[in-house]
Amino acid sequence: MAKRQPKRSERTVRREGERATTRLQEDRERLFALEPGGRIERPIEAASAAVIEAHATSVPCPRCGSSQEVTEHIALVHQGVRLREAQLRCRQCGSRRSLWFKIVGNSLN
Ligand SMILES: [Zn+2]
Repeated sequence: MAKRQPKRSERTVRREGERATTRLQEDRERLFALEPGGRIERPIEAASAAVIEAHATSVPCPRCGSSQEVTEHIALVHQGVRLREAQLRCRQCGSRRSLWFKIVGNSLN
């Protein structure tokens, strides 16, 4: 009699695949946070508030690569610097994150 090969169940294989995907997504999320605009300490320089939403929505979701929408656009001051927070939500997977901007336009007001 041939020995039965220990076979991993389909569910186990699927779970392992999901775990690997989750790890990859978490890595991408971490990378996103390291890029300009990913953290409040490293805002993207924007010429004016008007360009922020267009820029923010042009950045794909780090998890699935789909387009994101701006759900909130918040003006705030952080350590004396005027910043904008664009809160993003992925249209595909629904994950959320923020993109940070600093207005560096010429108009001083
Ligand atoms: Zn997504």
